[in-house]
Amino acid sequence: MIASDLRSGVDRLGDLIAAARTIVPFTGAGISTECGIPDFRSPDGLWSRNRPIPFDEFVASQEARDESWRRRFAMEPTFAAAKPGRGHRALASLYRAGKAPAVITQNIDNLHQASGFAPDHVIELHGNTTYARCIGCGETYQLDWVKRRFDADGIAPDCSLCAEPVKTATISFGQAMPEDAMQRATELAQQCDLFIAIGSSLVVWPAAGFPVMAKNCGARLVIINREPTEQDDIADLVIHHDIGETLGPFVGN
Ligand code: NAD
Repeated sequence: MIASDLRSGVDRLGDLIAAARTIVPFTGAGISTECGIPDFRSPDGLWSRNRPIPFDEFVASQEARDESWRRRFAMEPTFAAAKPGRGHRALASLYRAGKAPAVITQNIDNLHQASGFAPDHVIELHGNTTYARCIGCGETYQLDWVKRRFDADGIAPDCSLCAEPVKTATISFGQAMPEDAMQRATELAQQCDLFIAIGSSLVVWPAAGFPVMAKNCGARLVIINREPTEQDDIADLVIHHDIGETLGPFVGN
């Protein structure tokens, strides 16, 4: 059912939240646009500016690695300045109230942790861009470490332990999904009775399979996104409005 207006959508969402035992929020880039971080697929989104660099290209080419890090450092003021928005804060309220055990996110911006979720309760399907990792041995690096070497040598650095490339700790197109996060997200989707997909175009798979999985396992499904998605038809409630305005009323103390 598509909510006819914001008010009735918020009311119905409130009823579903009150009736739910276990709520699993699932978030995409749209929850962070009000925090100043552009999404991918909106008209002013990141894709309109830069084609993503697939994983095999990153591995094969120093030039691709340099470009990837140049883009990341260009985004740093944006990521560093971003604070949790109303959506993040509303979900953190559900978490603190014991209604939501964890959040599944496609986002890489660390804003759920910043809003009060324990790091272990943020299931990051696509990793995290606030630090870096060696793609060979998995050693973690701070972004400052990468920046210092990049600035000194003019090229993206390799791991000081195993000499493999160092990449933001994110999952690029063509890169294997993190097994532990996929397993935990599967369990959450199968066990919840209310699954709320927020700010995702639901076109990036396998992440987009989780709302369907939750619905097939008996959960109610809510989709909050200003544009229609391919899963609107199977949802119990669809709210085509701004996320901050929709979830603002659920921000608690
Ligand atoms: P997407 O860009 O494909 O879709 C975002 C959706 O959110 C769009 O349909 C858009 O209409 C909607 N939206 C944007 N702002 C909104 C608002 N204020 N209110 C309501 N709806 C709003 O994003 P996705 O589905 O998350 O998939 C893209 C991939 O991009 C993800 O895998 C993610 O890793 C990555 N990404 C992450 C960030 C981030 O961490 N903040 C930012 C950009 C891209």
